Amino acid sequence: MNAVVRSVMGWSRSGIRPLFILGIILLALWPTLMTSAYQMRIFTIVGIYALLSLGYQFIFGHAGALSLTQGTFFGVGAYVTGILSVRYGLGGEFTVLLSIALPLALAALIAAPVLRLESHYFALATLGVGQVMLLVAISWQDLTGGANGLSGIPGLTLFGLEFGKGYGIMAVVWVCVAMGAFVSWRITRGLYGAALVISRENRIAALSIGIDTAQLRYAMFLLSAMFAGLAGALYAHTIRVVSPEALEFAIMVACLTITVVGGRTHIAGAILGAILIVNLPEWFRAMEKYYLIAYGIALLAMIVAAPYGLIGLLEQWRAKLLPEKPPAMPPAEPFIFVRAARSAAGPLLEIRDVHKHFGGLKALNGISLMVAPGQIFGLIGPNGSGKTTMLNVITGIYRADSGSVYLDGTDIHNKRSFVIAQSGIARTFQNINLVEEMSVLDNVAVARYGFDNAGLVQTFAAGRIDPAWKRARSNAMYVLEGLGVATVAQSAAGSLAYGLKRKVEIARALALEPRLLLLDEPAAGLNEGEQLDLADRLRAFARGGLAILVIEHNMPFLMPLAERMACLDYGDLIAEGTPAEIRANPLVIEAYLGTPEEKRA
Ligand code: ADP
Ligand code: MG
Repeated sequence: MNAVVRSVMGWSRSGIRPLFILGIILLALWPTLMTSAYQMRIFTIVGIYALLSLGYQFIFGHAGALSLTQGTFFGVGAYVTGILSVRYGLGGEFTVLLSIALPLALAALIAAPVLRLESHYFALATLGVGQVMLLVAISWQDLTGGANGLSGIPGLTLFGLEFGKGYGIMAVVWVCVAMGAFVSWRITRGLYGAALVISRENRIAALSIGIDTAQLRYAMFLLSAMFAGLAGALYAHTIRVVSPEALEFAIMVACLTITVVGGRTHIAGAILGAILIVNLPEWFRAMEKYYLIAYGIALLAMIVAAPYGLIGLLEQWRAKLLPEKPPAMPPAEPFIFVRAARSAAGPLLEIRDVHKHFGGLKALNGISLMVAPGQIFGLIGPNGSGKTTMLNVITGIYRADSGSVYLDGTDIHNKRSFVIAQSGIARTFQNINLVEEMSVLDNVAVARYGFDNAGLVQTFAAGRIDPAWKRARSNAMYVLEGLGVATVAQSAAGSLAYGLKRKVEIARALALEPRLLLLDEPAAGLNEGEQLDLADRLRAFARGGLAILVIEHNMPFLMPLAERMACLDYGDLIAEGTPAEIRANPLVIEAYLGTPEEKRA
């Protein structure tokens, strides 16, 4: 199983503890062996880079977005401290706070237009921001000292106490690293942490269970900016000058390297990476001009050999040497996951004249449909006839060109995907969308995100164990039992057979307490016994008031299950009625079912 995801899910906490304690002891002993001011300064710089990279892990590791502004936020933080302390004589209690606040404000400002962009454009756009800030720093001479920068930055003072040199500033920096590590651990665990994992590993799946992936990315971006600003402030106080170098791309490259080498989501990775990257030039100094080549080769080897960084690699080895036993399964906690429609009168889902074109291709050509509360509605049609597109329009993944979609009388057309999920529409996917490396239980539990206090602040403030995550897992256990798949709760979702994966996806959808369940070919990969079992369970859910729209090619499965059916062909609705009417409809027979004679042939 993927060590990165697993550690986020809190699996290896007990296993990693001895390594963790050893690391802390080594770190604490190191400064006592130092003999020169130079060594102390190097160790201080290591801490500053560790802090910078801890912050970068939020956006690059946990949110999975390649941002290239981390160096810029760092430089801005350094400049704020430089300018305020040199030109205005402010103490550290102000300069440090403002060094965090300004990058935060900058991040908040640029996030809105930039975070929407897909990954490589996002990287380019963030790179542009850095260039603009560099230009500002060089041109605004009166304030920034231009190309020469500002020198004579005083040592750090906090409330009159001096932390100027040596152990003083080193202690402050490493206390900040410890606090940063604490914040990072608190925020990226539990239900919120699980929401982060699914958002970066499978955005469509995250949206389908009501998670606002953009909001998570935004929060991670702001956090990364705050950490970078703090690191910049400490840097300015440590090296006592600030120049455009602080904004140059080299800092970003160092930060990226540290994070990749150490590990994108491991707290220890940021620290180990910083130790290596800051010290490597020293250690390789004997190689002189071949240094860069050796460095480059070492880095490449790293990326190939340890894609999850050194800490990821260590964790893999540890898992082999000291296999851990999976955590005990939580007790199932009952809740009502089948919700009936709010208003009994009228259809639950109403689709009116929906058109969806892809270029010249009419995927949906004026479709109107109604699904009643508690009804099982079957949707059939040849491959490419628009069935999946229909689900994607209903769930907001595609926007219809025209037409409207109502849920329980409310127009949901044009709403965002995660809002539609929150309003009571859950779905599964034709090409299963589970997070393969996460356990079955966690895949389902994360769907409880919207039902509990799972925000960033609540997660941070919760005790050692996140109670929201505990409840979510207990609820998930209950849904898994409801589908008869609780026995595989501990397995990695990716390790399951196809049919089981489908059931897990249905469980995840049901954990959302939907009023309408959309299933895209749920019987594919199920053997006959499993099909009968699934049909029985779906019928029971429908009796509880859940409306179910099923896309299926398997007629022996669908015909006895569905109350009503419709058939699509090339984007047109060619028939609608009871299963018996559909079976006898000549248009359906010609387009899809074929005559019994043809089928036998
Ligand atoms: P079905 O689920 O009935 O097999 P789909 O709804 O997946 O069919 O596809 C209907 C038609 O729309 C197909 O011709 C398919 O190629 C096309 N289509 C679906 N999604 C897209 C897309 N994102 N871009 C372009 N064409 C698409
Ligand atoms: Mg399809």
